[in-house]
Formats: sequence, structure tokens, C-alpha cells
Amino acid sequence: MVSPAKKRKLNSDSKTTSTPPRNLHYFFGKQKQQPPPQPANNAPENLDPDDARMLTDEQFARKLQAEVDLEAAAERAEASRSRTPKSKDSLPSIERAAKETSTASEDSKPSGTGSNGNAAEKDVVDTKPDQTLPSFKSENHTLTLQASGSAEDTIISSIPFDESPLTFEPSKYAQDLANGVLEGHDASYALLTRCFVLLNSTRSRIRIVDTLVNLLRVIVEGDPSSLLPTVWLATNSISPPYISKELGLGGSAISKALKNAFGLDNKSLKALYDKVGDAGDVAFLAKKKQTFTLRKPKPLTIKGVYQSLVKIANTQGTGSGETKQRIVDRLLQDARGAEESRYLVRTLCQHLRIGAVKTTMLIALSRAFLLSRPPSADFNLKSPKELASLKKEELAEVWLRAEEILKECFARRPNYNDLVPVLLEIGVCDELLVRCGLALHIPLRPMLGSITRDLSEMLTKLQGRDFACEYKYDGQRAQVHCDNQGKVSIFSRNLELMTDKYPDLVALIPKIRGDGVGSFIMEGEIVAVNQETGELKTFQTLSNRARKDVAIGSVKIEVCMFAFDIMYLNGEPLLDRPLRERRELLRSLFIEVPHQFTWVKSIDAKSQDSEAVLEFFKSATDVKCEGIMVKILDNLPNMLPPDEEEASETPSKATKGKKKSSEKDPEKKTNRKALLATYEPDKRLESWLKVKKDYSTTFDTLDMIPVAGWHGQGRKSQWWSPILLAVRNEETGSLEVVCKCISGFTDAFYKANKEHYKEGGEHVLGSKPSYVEYYGPSPQVWFEPQEVWEMAFADITISPTYTAAIGLVSDEKGLSLRFPRFLKKREDKGIDEASTNEFLANLWRKQEEKASTSSVKEVQGEIVEYDENISD
Ligand code: ATP
Repeated sequence: MVSPAKKRKLNSDSKTTSTPPRNLHYFFGKQKQQPPPQPANNAPENLDPDDARMLTDEQFARKLQAEVDLEAAAERAEASRSRTPKSKDSLPSIERAAKETSTASEDSKPSGTGSNGNAAEKDVVDTKPDQTLPSFKSENHTLTLQASGSAEDTIISSIPFDESPLTFEPSKYAQDLANGVLEGHDASYALLTRCFVLLNSTRSRIRIVDTLVNLLRVIVEGDPSSLLPTVWLATNSISPPYISKELGLGGSAISKALKNAFGLDNKSLKALYDKVGDAGDVAFLAKKKQTFTLRKPKPLTIKGVYQSLVKIANTQGTGSGETKQRIVDRLLQDARGAEESRYLVRTLCQHLRIGAVKTTMLIALSRAFLLSRPPSADFNLKSPKELASLKKEELAEVWLRAEEILKECFARRPNYNDLVPVLLEIGVCDELLVRCGLALHIPLRPMLGSITRDLSEMLTKLQGRDFACEYKYDGQRAQVHCDNQGKVSIFSRNLELMTDKYPDLVALIPKIRGDGVGSFIMEGEIVAVNQETGELKTFQTLSNRARKDVAIGSVKIEVCMFAFDIMYLNGEPLLDRPLRERRELLRSLFIEVPHQFTWVKSIDAKSQDSEAVLEFFKSATDVKCEGIMVKILDNLPNMLPPDEEEASETPSKATKGKKKSSEKDPEKKTNRKALLATYEPDKRLESWLKVKKDYSTTFDTLDMIPVAGWHGQGRKSQWWSPILLAVRNEETGSLEVVCKCISGFTDAFYKANKEHYKEGGEHVLGSKPSYVEYYGPSPQVWFEPQEVWEMAFADITISPTYTAAIGLVSDEKGLSLRFPRFLKKREDKGIDEASTNEFLANLWRKQEEKASTSSVKEVQGEIVEYDENISD
């Protein structure tokens, strides 16, 4: 399952697929009402308090509470007076939306049966609290977090999930779970919902982690079999990226379910949707207003919800639409409270927005397993009391060690299905890396390169070290796995399976395997080439290649793979070997097939070889390469080799080669971390540096998400221009708008872009998605965030208008770009691979640093000049 925030450009050929799933926005796109324009400098604190889309869930819930209380008070007052009809216009806005909703639904449905007018009378269950929900006040529709007030809900809402894990006592609540108080022996979905509400009500990273840790601990101790589904649901996915499991639910399925479950008709659903702008909030509001259900809800469990999602994803073929619809309807009908409904719908829409991204989940898991274990396990735990007595830095060190093990594990084998069962058995320990390490046909997360401004910065950074300079080819990164039987899998940089896209490469593998090569995992760049001459073609050419089910005979865009690394050979991981050794294996054991398989072109150098490096850089750009990749070849001689390290008393294998070596490392004395020549999955270290040809003009490029646009002026009136672009906030899952862009687009691009984001089309939304942060003048069209564009710019500025990266460099202002210019579409990146607000803030910091050093240089230059003048 892929969330919009996480939605990737899958390696599926858009031409070959049937109509892509449409989301809820699409179905309202045509009836769209433009929100009124807002002033340009509208800071968040100046927001219109009536615009529910600008509020956090917590604020929204409070606002609703206040309004519904008001409504209830008004109703009571009205009841005591004679029956005077109330003017709709005198009601608060949300109340009005809800009133209209209920009126509209009543207009359309046969009395008391919801939109499914055929429901038998006896199936209609009054959910008014005085009947089935004891804590729900009968006259007053009190907005509790969980509207149903059963015994479990009372227990759940009293669990202090956001307390420090060092004082939180999961055993108290785990016992309730184990005793079957909560939905038999399975943890109830209400438990998860309670945590989602808490997670959504804070932006504090500490509180988010604490809440998740406490939730995981209750589950580990009380119902370990629900841990895996909990982890999947909390990360808003059901499978790793390399196993394509799509819910495939269009907006119509969700709106149908909303109508079926809450007895709404089109008009009332639209009214709610226009009001709150988020399908989850629509469900929340509709549930609040629901006074009966078609049948008594069957309490949802975490496992049950997860299994339903898997079932939806696995349902294919004829009639699958109806089957999926039935499952979705059932889920929504079984949701007991408004919050449960909200988070279910957000899960189904694949945008949960609770800030439990991969890193946060791994941190939470590592801490949870230091403090808790399932009843069946006997691994060692840390005492919360002892941890609480540690100094802050000591505690951080304990957490960090566990985190590193988990992150290292997940970077090698990014699948919770593999990780969680082993964790439940042995906890966080070195053995986890062995039990859950590198494996064939499971992609590891790639090592990434750091940015350098130019060659001289690179030479300074790598002073004293031997390094390889390699051409940085402009193609698609590929991880090729081959087992002893010759079965081949090819994965993209985003870990998606793309074996189908490159049958020509699969066919080549037997030819390139030298003597003695059994299984291997190799990495390289696939580039479009002219196979006769070997001439490199552009990335654009490669992107025209079909993406799915390519038949070998029909390949039109020929490619060559330029291998640059090998991570696994004949059953043995090579990650701990220095690059020089890995490269030697790659070059000596594989066989070149001219213009189809070869090694990246490279030279070895040291910092003093600047001329040779410059020459090499020029030759790379001459043949259409993006620049060069520079990689450290050897670990420092005094870095401990892996064997010795294992024998030494290194506390965890995770810190191996890093802590130990840096202790003896001369670079440490100068406060510089030792640069490693090992392959470090999922890390962006300075031992791999990128030097691109564009860097001389701009600092770096940003990978941004187009989110909205205006009708162009004059010649461009047929197209969208300017276009609003956003970066990602990894913590909140929101997209933060950074700038408008009008340059770098060709007319052909404009045309194609207008076609893609056609008014009323599937990629255009009815209103601003609630997870897009933007407070400037209203654009004329909102795009469904789903693609990544690489953008150049002159520099980064502090902005009073845009709130991107707010709080990172300034408390009140965000960052924007001066002279943003479109470079190209990043077909190989999904929106979860787009640049983050953190990355933007870091670029700004570097820019400021550079500005201050160059002004110091300028001043020094002036002084020298001045002195020279004097001496003259
Ligand atoms: P990143 O992959 O680092 O997040 P990105 O996707 O924006 O960033 P670039 O900044 O262009 O990519 O650079 C890294 C990419 O360069 C690699 O992911 C890989 O696809 C490509 N590449 C080309 N040649 C090489 C090489 N010799 N070594 C490593 N990567 C290379």
C-alpha cells in the first residue's frame, strides 16, 4: 500500500494500466468551489478560525466540540420555547454543514434506513448513548475522542500513552489485553486510534516517539500477535516497497462507503467535504452526527483491520470492485466512534498524517524492546528505574545503540514481516543483524552520496585519503540480485521490483558471470546507449522506455549497465569490505560485454592530483554525464579490521567500525569523523561525494512536488503557470509550499502538463489537500501531489509568505527560492523521495556559511589590496 505522501512512481507502465484509481477529491473536482483568495502574507496564526482545513485534528475536534455544545444548548433552549424554525444562516459553519447534511440525508433516504433504504427495520440500531453507549450523554452529543463509551474505551482513554516510557507501566494495561477485556484476546483498533489521536495532536518528536513506544510496549506485553499489524497500520502501509500491494481504492469506493455507513447522499457528502476538505474529517463529522447504524457495530481489532486491508489489496479480477467495496463498507460500519472512523478513512485513503515515518517507528521499536518483552520470551531488558537515574547523555547513548542496530537491520532488510517476529523472539541485540540481515531477492537500501559545491570543496574534504573518481552517469540506479540457480531480480533506487522492465539485462546476466561466481548482489547505473557505438544517451531517452512487462524482442531503448559496486558474493555479505576490495572483486570476477555491461569509468586520485581530477571531471561532462562521484577507497590503516573488532569489546555490532575506529582516528582529533570505505546502506555519508556540473551556478538542486497552479497570462493562458512547488515535512507527513515557478518550462512541457493536470481530470483536486501547508493567495487549481520535479534556483531566501521549514531557521518565517527554474521530472522518484524541509534548511545554512566565508575573504582581500597600496 502506498500513501500519497509515500506514493511512488511505480514501475508500471501508465499506458498499459487501466484507469488509475481516483481519489475522493476527483469526484468532487467537477463541483469544485474555489476557496476565497487569502492575503499573501497570511501567517498561520492569522488563519481564518472558521477554515477547518487549517486546523490540527485537536483544534478541529475542540472547535467541533464547542459548536456541537452550542448546538445542543440551542436545541435545548429551542425545545423549551415554542417550535420556531431556525434560520440555517444563523448557525455556526460546521453546525450548518452538519444540519444541511442531516436534512439532505433525510430528504433522500426512506425513513430511518440510511441510503441503503432496503435495510430491515430490525437491523437499525440506535447508537444513541442511552441505549448502547453508556458514556454518551443522551441529549448532548458530546464529542469524546471515542464516542462509544464501552468498558474497553474507558480503559483505553485512561491509558497515559504520552507519558515518558520510563514511568509508563504497560503491565497494568497489558493485563487487560491478556485477560481478554479488550475484544477477546486481540488488541482493539480503538487502542490504536487512541494513539493516533495523541500522535496527531502533537508536533513534538519526543512525545510522538514516547506515545509509540508505550503503545508498542502494551501490545508486546499484552497481545504480541498484534504487533506486526500495529506496525504496518501505524506506518500506513501493508507491505514493503518491493512487494507491490496496492489497495486500489478509488475515491468513489470511499465516498460510497461514507454514504452507506453514515446514510449520506451526494449533496450532504459534498457539503461535508467542502467544509472540511479531508475524507477522514468527513467521516469524523458524519459519525458525530449519526444517530443510528444499520446494524450493531462489531468492534474492530488491529489484526482485523490489517487483514481487511490485505484482503482488499489481494482482491483482483472481475467483481473485485464489489468485493473491495463490501470490505470497506463493513469496516466503516464497524467503526464505533468518530475518531475510529476518521483514522480508518485516512488509512484507506493512504494518508494517515501521524508522523510515524520509518525512522520514528524504528526508534520506537528499539526502545520498546529494551523495556518490554512478550510473555513467551526471556531476553534481557533494561530497568526503567535504572535508565531514569542515568544522565541525559548516558541515556541517549543507551537509546542510540539500540536504534543503530534496528536501523542497520532495516537498511539491509527493509521488511517489518522479517524484523518484527525476530524482535519478539530475541529483542534488540547483535544477533538480530545475523537473523535479519542481507538476503538475496530482498533489496537493501542504497548508500547515498553527499553534496559538494565544487571540486575544490571535494578535494579539501578528502585531504589525505585515496579516492576513486567515477563518472556519474545519468540513468537509473539498479540493484541486481542473482542466486545460485541464476534467478535474477532487479530493484530500483526506491526498492521497487523492476525486473520486468529490463528483460535484456536479465538475459545478459549469465554472460557476465565469471568463473566461480554463484550468487551476488551488484549495483550500477542503467543508461540508455547506442549499442553500436556505445554513445551515452540522455536520461530523457531512458525514461521513454516502457516500464512493465517489456518483451525482450520489443526493446526499443537499448541500455548498458555501468556497475559500480558489489555488496554480496557467493553467500557472503561484502558490506564491511573497503571499496578497493569490493571493486577488485567486481572487476576481476565479472565479464564485460561491450556497450551492454561494463564498469563505471574511473580514476584513482589524492587531493594533490587536482589537475587530473579536473581533467576527468571535464571528460565526464563532455560525454553527457552529470558530473562525478568521488568515493573513499580504503579505511584508514588504524581502523580496526572487522575480525579484530568483533573480538574486541565493541558494545554492539551496529557501532562497529565507527566508534572504535574514530577513537584511534587522527581525523577525530580535528573533530572530523573518519570517512569509511565500507558500504553503508541507507546512509548519506561524506565517503561518497557528488560533484555535479550544475553546482558552479547553483548550490544544489531540490526535488520538489508540484501542488498547484494558476492560469497563465498572454501566450501562456492555455497552460498552468506559475506552478506552486512544495517540499516534504518528514515528521508531519505534510507538504510545505516553497515557491512559485515560471521558468525552465518549454511550451511542449506546458502543454503536456496542462493535459496531465486537466481541469476536472483525475489529477486535479477540488480543494487544497489538508496536508499541504500554504497560506498565500489561492491558486486556481490544486494538483494531486504525485510527481517530483528537479528544480534549480539562484539562492534560498527567508520568506514572510511561505512557511516551508518554519522553525528550522526562523521561528516566524519560512524559506523560499529566488529564481526557481524547472530542470526535469524525476521519473525515478516518488513523492516520498522528494527533498525535505530539513534538507532545504541545511542548504540555507550552507549558503549562509558560504556567504560569510566569502565576505571574510573579500574583506581580507581588501586589506591585502590596501596594504599593497600602502607599500606602493
Ligand atoms: P540521491 O540518490 O543521492 O538521493 P538523487 O537521486 O537526487 O540523490 P543524484 O544526486 O543525482 O541522485 O546522485 C546519486 C545518483 O547518481 C545515484 O543514486 C545513482 O543513481 C547515480 N549514479 C550515477 N553514477 C554513479 C556512480 N558511479 N556511483 C554511484 N551512483 C551513481
